[in-house]
Amino acid sequence: MRISVIGCGYLGAVHAACMAHLGHEVVGVDVNAGKIESLSAGLAPFFEPDMPALLAEGLDSSRLTFTTDMAITATCNVHFIAVGTPQKKGENGADLRFVEAALEDLLRYLKPGDIVVGKSTVPVGTAERLSAMIRTNMPDATLIWNPEFLREGFAVADTLNPDRLVYGTRTGSETAVEILDGIYGAALERGTPRILTDFATAELVKVAANAFLATKISFINAMAEVCEASGADVSQLADAIGYDPRIGRKFLNAGLGFGGGCLPKDIRAFMARAGELGADQALTFLREVDSINMRRRARTIDLAREVCGGTLLGKRIAVLGLAFKPNSDDVRDSPALSVAAQLQLQGASVVASDPKAVANSAKRFPELEFTETVIEAVKRADAVMVLTEWQEYIDLSPSELRGLVASPNIVDGRNCLDPTKWRAEGWIYRALGRP
Ligand code: NAD
Repeated sequence: MRISVIGCGYLGAVHAACMAHLGHEVVGVDVNAGKIESLSAGLAPFFEPDMPALLAEGLDSSRLTFTTDMAITATCNVHFIAVGTPQKKGENGADLRFVEAALEDLLRYLKPGDIVVGKSTVPVGTAERLSAMIRTNMPDATLIWNPEFLREGFAVADTLNPDRLVYGTRTGSETAVEILDGIYGAALERGTPRILTDFATAELVKVAANAFLATKISFINAMAEVCEASGADVSQLADAIGYDPRIGRKFLNAGLGFGGGCLPKDIRAFMARAGELGADQALTFLREVDSINMRRRARTIDLAREVCGGTLLGKRIAVLGLAFKPNSDDVRDSPALSVAAQLQLQGASVVASDPKAVANSAKRFPELEFTETVIEAVKRADAVMVLTEWQEYIDLSPSELRGLVASPNIVDGRNCLDPTKWRAEGWIYRALGRP
């Protein structure tokens, strides 16, 4: 099978490289010439462990190529659609322009027997509409909706060893299903569950999973608010309830909340779509999930103000962590970057650092001061804020840092530090949801 992957962003580039690793011949197509140039030179346009090695392997073997020319899809039989579905400007709904444009472009080259595989996260009902577009233009081509569940930072491992595969199909797609099974043969042979369902269920599986994860995070953050009001400790509470296997400890880390290019926009698009379908009441709780999440950013800024003696004006604040989560350089809707920018707007002078996300952050907020090293960031700081739980921040030595700062104030925005250790070295330690 010769495969095309249309859209070579985070999802598409990783998918293309992984499919080549599995032995398939793959061509990645994107409208962004800079991205294609970079990928063709073996440079991933984002930080993702294992991607450089996989890219090099694919390019060296010639199984993996990249182009901006959609005409190349005429030489492929299976086409994965992996373009972005961002939030519409000023609205909650998903912007489907890129998906529609990519498909329209692809339709010009589609042949009988071709399979189009949708991987982007789309509102329920989209696949049915796209499938009709395909049938009108090329009745012998088939659409399968195959949502993607990869986690940034583990994207390669998740693509090669998915938890599950979901195929949304129409009746009469048996041959296409067999072909897609062949492409995912390695994972299926290892026993990866495969759920064969209709378009609507496949689309909903993805957004329901994200809504559940967002709810779990906001649940523990709501508990953190009650802990703050009552003097309780949310970390111990999370450990204690997490031992119940019905609850589980994962995704119960109270802190600055979720962000990134998926969760926030996906729950908003889900609410918007439910509204269009007349089922808005079913998802009103997601509005609260979103509000709790956003309140954590405001509360983190309050903590900074408190440790700085009631005002941020003229205070020097070291922000450690800018990516929306560790092992990523992605700053799309990053809570850490949003807090850093707010601190600056409220009169603090912010010096921010991150092991991988400085360049992306500087593009969004050039007015912040950035440095590559923790030492430079914390020098003469009135407060140090840990906003992304990179391992190197968890491993920081409170005694070494103590000699560099102006005042030993630390705000642990991710509940990732050991308060006893920091307090023992004379630091004022504050965290969300802990006394
Ligand atoms: P991204 O913004 O990193 O990449 C999207 C790419 O599509 C860009 O490179 C853009 O240039 C390209 N593109 C846009 N229009 C195009 C067109 N007409 N033809 C060819 N290329 C085009 O986005 P992403 O993070 O890779 O997400 C893509 C989709 O996957 C979204 O729907 C997202 O919700 C979903 N998803 C993302 C992740 C993740 O962790 N990033 C995980 C699961 C699902």
